[in-house]
Amino acid sequence: MKWESIQKAYPDDAAGVQLARKIYELVQESMKAIDIPRLDSLNQVEGSMMQLPFSSLAKVCLHIWKQSFEEEPAIDMEQALASFIKDETLAEIPEETRDAAAMVIRPVVTSYMSTLRELNQDLVSSAWNSGTCPFCNAYPRIALDSETSRKLSCLLCGQDWDFPRIKCPYCGNNDHETLGYFEAEEIEGVRVYYCDKCKHYIKVIDTRERAVQDTETEDVITLVMDELARQEGYL
Ligand SMILES: [Zn+2]
Ligand SMILES: [Zn+2]
Repeated sequence: MKWESIQKAYPDDAAGVQLARKIYELVQESMKAIDIPRLDSLNQVEGSMMQLPFSSLAKVCLHIWKQSFEEEPAIDMEQALASFIKDETLAEIPEETRDAAAMVIRPVVTSYMSTLRELNQDLVSSAWNSGTCPFCNAYPRIALDSETSRKLSCLLCGQDWDFPRIKCPYCGNNDHETLGYFEAEEIEGVRVYYCDKCKHYIKVIDTRERAVQDTETEDVITLVMDELARQEGYL
């Protein structure tokens, strides 16, 4: 995560970025105490990811919450974690707590998942042609285009994989009549690729036009594109 770039992208929200950074650093520190297993097969992570150690991750979240917001959260942390895994929008928890919950839960889950993946990288198939992550089965929300290929990137575990440009990772649609893209003036080298068959979209960063830091940072500094995509009715 490149915090200087994020700070620059959101000059009006210096305090918010500072808080997110503090939480992120607390997470990196606290996760050292979590035992991360070697897996026998990827069946243990795929699908629901129910193998996550919810109670120990909830303890980490609670600890960080108290240090960051100086109060007890008004939510059941294990339930909130499960809700995040099911649907990253945290739709099941009260709206007024959602932003704070995402600020704490997202880095805890992504930290766990990326270390789990790194430890078990040998289980990830290199011949993968599905639109979901070859490690954790999540859908990608961002991709990197180069001269020769498109790489989808999983923001949960950090895995990336090659995927055709003219194909929707969500539904497999490859009919160019119902696939399209748009860009926004204020951000160069980033496009929203959408599918009119399933109404999903991904953000694609063109690495020929834009110096890419890492996809986590790129995702945060291009949130305006998500806003535009949602305004157009995409998920
Ligand atoms: Zn993944
Ligand atoms: Zn689609």
